[in-house]
Amino acid sequence: MPDQQAVQLMIKARWIIPIVPAGRVYEDCAIIVNQQKIVALLPVAEAEKSYRAEQTVCLGRHVLMPGLINSHGHAAMSLLRGFADDQPLETWLNEHIWPAEERFVDADFVRDGTELAVAEMIKSGTSCFADMYFYPEQTAKVARRAHMRAQIAFPVIDVATNWGDGPDDYINKGLALHDEYRDDDLIRIAFGPHAPYTVSNDSLQRIGVLAQELEAPIHIHLHETANEIADSIGQHGKRPLERLRELGVLSPLTQCVHMTELDDSDIATLASTGSHVIHCPESNLKLTSGFSPVARLSAAGVNVAIGTDGAASNNDLSMLGELQTASLLAKNVAQDAAALNAHQTLMMATLNGARSLGIDDITGSLELGKAADIVAFELDELCAEPIYDIASTLVYNNRAVKATHLWVAGKALMLSGHLQTLNERDIAAKARQWGKKIVQEYPRPS
Ligand SMILES: [Zn+2]
Repeated sequence: MPDQQAVQLMIKARWIIPIVPAGRVYEDCAIIVNQQKIVALLPVAEAEKSYRAEQTVCLGRHVLMPGLINSHGHAAMSLLRGFADDQPLETWLNEHIWPAEERFVDADFVRDGTELAVAEMIKSGTSCFADMYFYPEQTAKVARRAHMRAQIAFPVIDVATNWGDGPDDYINKGLALHDEYRDDDLIRIAFGPHAPYTVSNDSLQRIGVLAQELEAPIHIHLHETANEIADSIGQHGKRPLERLRELGVLSPLTQCVHMTELDDSDIATLASTGSHVIHCPESNLKLTSGFSPVARLSAAGVNVAIGTDGAASNNDLSMLGELQTASLLAKNVAQDAAALNAHQTLMMATLNGARSLGIDDITGSLELGKAADIVAFELDELCAEPIYDIASTLVYNNRAVKATHLWVAGKALMLSGHLQTLNERDIAAKARQWGKKIVQEYPRPS
């Protein structure tokens, strides 16, 4: 037809959850993609009349939604998945993870571990991830090669590690990396002060100033356990969040990861500074760290996003699984079965995630003009039926759901379950080799 508009991609599916408008589900519609962006979302019959696509993907019993955003993790730590289970945070870090990292973590470890994580994330429907780990230049390279969207935070910590000599060295390396990716469409570089108990006042203050100058995000583990708060009161005379506020670290650029043990003043501080909370429920549960009161935070107007944390404390990177845990936990922490319903939970893993990373003008919802970051989940399993509310199935019955297709900025990263930018077999083989080497050289805790 002569009046048909030529476009690159048309994706048709049974359901579409656009996230904006909130709570809506479209049925038998199509998404039209051109030059990396979403240009239309309309009923299939109208789409076929109005557009001529170079490529059409016809999905049957699938739901399309914005790619999931994993707002906190340590991708390379996938190589330590299941390495030290059943330990509380302090023991897990001090006696197992940090010594193992000292022994094994180098550029190759980070490259191979990140590839493993990115492959797993794509296969479970994640299009964007926020990371904090050593050798962030390797993480960024892998994400770029895989065509994932990512925020890579370079770690800053008071002690020397394999990656550098100390805070000044980490910041210098991080600033150089920030410069390198200044104009990148997919990768953003952030400051990653590890935690209030591992970074000095001087370094935190310097990071606060530099982040404002560069308009770069700050990503920090914060209020992870009751001990952290008690130690801070003992050492500094104030709660960690208050200390960070006084040092100029808190602003809408700040992503506070974990945030358990919050009192009313903490919640008011988060709301008044516009800082974001990244909730990691499975890691908190596994390390017995505590509970983040997400319903109270949301009610106070604080933006809450969700992350899996690293696979070493989870032990998977499935965002749908994380959402189920987040929703069930929120109901019990709030003592309210209506807390964090399925649509609100999906919002946390998409638009709220994009907001927390400062990229909600680009991604996080299927709105016209946004990047075509789209996931298709298939619902072909017996145990998915019947379906009354597709959002409910995704969150509460996610084992019946399988990610089959994923696009980032219009480029296919997975089609019919097959990775397009990474080699799954090579990645699995390398992960097995690392597992063998690590267990031979470093016996696991008994
Ligand atoms: Zn973490």
